[in-house]
Amino acid sequence: MTEYDIIIIGSGPGGYTAAAAAVKAGLKTLVVEADRLGGTCLNRGCIPTKTFCRSAVAALEVKGAPAFGVEVAQGKADGEFGIGIADPQPVVSLQKIFDRKDAIVEELREGVAGIIRGADVCQGTARFTGPHTVEAAGMEYTAPYIVIATGAAPALPDIPGADLCLDSDSLLCCADSVPSMAIIGGGVIGMEFASVFNAFGCEVHVLEYCPEILPGIDREVAKRLRSVLSRRGVKFHLQARVTGVEKLPDAMEEHRLYPQLQVAFSAKGKDDSVTCARVLMAVGRRPVIPAGAEEAGVKVVAGKIETDAGFRTAAEGVYAIGDVNGRCMLAHAAAAQARAAVADIIRRRGGHAPQVQLEPVPACVFTVPELAVTGLSEEQAKERGIDFRVLKLPVRANGKALTMGATDGLVKVLVTPGNNSGNGAEKSTDSPAESRVIGAAILGPDASSLIMELSLAISAGLPVEALTGAIHPHPTLSELIPCTLE
Ligand code: NAD
Repeated sequence: MTEYDIIIIGSGPGGYTAAAAAVKAGLKTLVVEADRLGGTCLNRGCIPTKTFCRSAVAALEVKGAPAFGVEVAQGKADGEFGIGIADPQPVVSLQKIFDRKDAIVEELREGVAGIIRGADVCQGTARFTGPHTVEAAGMEYTAPYIVIATGAAPALPDIPGADLCLDSDSLLCCADSVPSMAIIGGGVIGMEFASVFNAFGCEVHVLEYCPEILPGIDREVAKRLRSVLSRRGVKFHLQARVTGVEKLPDAMEEHRLYPQLQVAFSAKGKDDSVTCARVLMAVGRRPVIPAGAEEAGVKVVAGKIETDAGFRTAAEGVYAIGDVNGRCMLAHAAAAQARAAVADIIRRRGGHAPQVQLEPVPACVFTVPELAVTGLSEEQAKERGIDFRVLKLPVRANGKALTMGATDGLVKVLVTPGNNSGNGAEKSTDSPAESRVIGAAILGPDASSLIMELSLAISAGLPVEALTGAIHPHPTLSELIPCTLE
């Protein structure tokens, strides 16, 4: 049995961040990884899908080029459909998009190997054989501290015909194009793929169970995104309860034979169906619990590993970070939790480690346009009875956005009313200097980067005046922030 100071199971953003922090603290570290380094984020999630999003932007730019005085020369290669000057259509090669994705993922995987340099890596599936021991690839390892960072996998609901659908993992391995796609689930994965495949020229239907897409995200902004995507041709079916997926005889389209899948659903009391060549199931993800964890004392509740606020599980010395604890299924949240867990271990070993900030967690949806949020949504602030004001600005008001031709969207910021925040009374004596940001949502170009100024304002408790008073370069999208707050 080989002894370590810490064993980390999983090498996604949670696992590799924990390993890097542990090595830096001088701990003898083992990382056990069943698959390739980098986890879901690098191999099947954030990074590969963002390469698709970039190709979607390129396709939309080709389509929109005439509006910028740029026209695509007439030309048509053998086997490609035509590009006309009057109505340019991008010719999308999914194979080239996949090759680009694979090259980027490969390059970043080498980066992950560099990040965890100094840790031993065991390629194998870890199984707990005791509270402080794991077995992997025929070897047994022990450590006083074990960090479970095994992530999550696509959830497959109990719907007849669900096995006919692809999930986000299998879709990322399907380089053949189809003329139409139904997406079950209008969450983050559903919206990103809807935006991408719509841009590639595929007919896209989204079937969402809730009254609005992106449940949990500011309603007004989610609705705005839906309306932008609807205008681009995505078809939304809200309050749709999918009852089954069925295979019909294949059909000929554009001289090619495609499968025909019929998705039956009931929406607002009416039975309906859509027929598409491909169905993507994107109804959430379920944590992956390592074998033997419960026998080792780890408590699993509703399929998630239960932890305290410091990510300690019910088993002494065992931590669970990232998607597996179900607290916040985002790569950067997993990384922050990893730093917090390793800091806790360092302190328990008698060392010093700073407190790790775990809130707010900005979240981004990489549609075109992008949507990003941080802090509280308007609905959450109301539920909590917080006194706040809403400040809004359409993206169209920004000079740079106009020059970019990217005017869809808005910036929405929730701020405390000032001196009287907390009791909700007499807003007339507000002092702008005391007003602080409590939440924000941005729909627009580069929202994923712009959100950080507002997220930093929340985490650092900056007064609104610090944002409006800071000089922002002109003309830039960054001016949207002070202009919204003024
Ligand atoms: P999700 O929870 O974001 O959305 C699932 C959606 O499916 C919800 O809107 C839900 O109402 C709907 N739904 C559930 N059952 C349904 C049914 N039977 N019929 C119709 N609709 C149904 O889950 P996801 O989109 O699968 O994403 C999984 C996780 O991965 C999320 O936590 C997400 O935040 C994360 N993720 C993040 C990013 C990013 O940060 N950009 C990208 C992709 C995924």
